Amino acid sequence: MCPTTTDFNTVDHSGGHLTVNLGSIAQNWRLLAKLAAPGECAGVVKGNAYGIGLEPVAHTLWNAGCKTFFVALPQEAFELRTYLPDATIYCLGGLTPTGAADYAAHRINPCLNTMDEVREWAALDGEHQAALHVDTGMTRLGLTMEEASSLALDNALLGRLNLTHVMSHLACADEPTHPLNNVQIANFEQVRSLFPGLPGSLANSAGTLQGARFRHDLARPGIALYGGQSVVPAPEVLHPVVTLEARVMQVRLAKAGDIVGYGATKTLERDSRIAILGVGYADGYHRLVGNAPDAHVMINDQPAPMLGRVSMDLIATDITEPHFDDVRPGMFVELINSKLTVDVVAGWAKTIGYEVLTGLGPRYRRTFLGG
Ligand SMILES: *Cc1c(COP(=O)(O)O)cnc(C)c1O
Repeated sequence: MCPTTTDFNTVDHSGGHLTVNLGSIAQNWRLLAKLAAPGECAGVVKGNAYGIGLEPVAHTLWNAGCKTFFVALPQEAFELRTYLPDATIYCLGGLTPTGAADYAAHRINPCLNTMDEVREWAALDGEHQAALHVDTGMTRLGLTMEEASSLALDNALLGRLNLTHVMSHLACADEPTHPLNNVQIANFEQVRSLFPGLPGSLANSAGTLQGARFRHDLARPGIALYGGQSVVPAPEVLHPVVTLEARVMQVRLAKAGDIVGYGATKTLERDSRIAILGVGYADGYHRLVGNAPDAHVMINDQPAPMLGRVSMDLIATDITEPHFDDVRPGMFVELINSKLTVDVVAGWAKTIGYEVLTGLGPRYRRTFLGG
């Protein structure tokens, strides 16, 4: 579990509170599993479960009924194995050179991404499971279509591989009308026909949410489990998962004409009351949010505008309006909640909710609800 700043103290000294609703993650997985049926629904937990915390998320998904997990890196796979001794675990990053024996020892199934990896896994003993990853148009990891075609004819090599699935990954499933979706679907059908009887896995969150043509036998949703937006427009059915609050460190008065923050990018237009908050870009709250139009935090259900740049550890917000009169040092105000979502904050930072989530820093006091 993630370290907290309060483990050794009786008082909460943290600048920010991150509350994770594990019950919402379980609900989101069940919903995606229903959509994926009759296929299986896995859970993608790479990047410390998208910044949320691998151990609590792994137990939550397992208890909800998820039996198959995907991570990116072998060290994530080995860590996950210590939490879930009976889960099926795939490593999307494939094999580390000469590392196959470690994978086998931890019962980690590599997603074989190159012919070298295919041969290395085949050389092991032919008993351990793997997925075959074919690139259908993203030009990232995976065998080329040509390599997959040759492999399909190589019965000697195939006979020494215990393949569970053939898989591929979608580049544009977040844009349902993008023409690459149909190209990738057609290419994947072709790849599947090369390996008759082998189950297929194509859909990420966006694919799982969109329809049967993406789904095949094993869905691999990540972001949707964590309440992030994967398709535009977003389906309303998923539950928000994280709440982020920052401590009010100081409340101060300033005059019209005063500047606020690094670079003096903000000049106050009126005499103002300002709250300085104890979260910054070192916590993953992006520096660019500071001067984005409309960027704000929520205090007593009212938006309090950002003032100037986000610093490494601090944010300045405008609390001049009378409905903020009761704001005092020590209070916590909301940076992310069920309406002010990771995707809204991501928009201000000119990025996507994935990056806001995976960037959630180690300094927050983390609380896990439900699960
Ligand atoms: C990250 C990843 C996923 C999950 O994608 P989401 O958009 O988060 O659902 C699925 N498959 C592969 C290969 C990935 O890299």
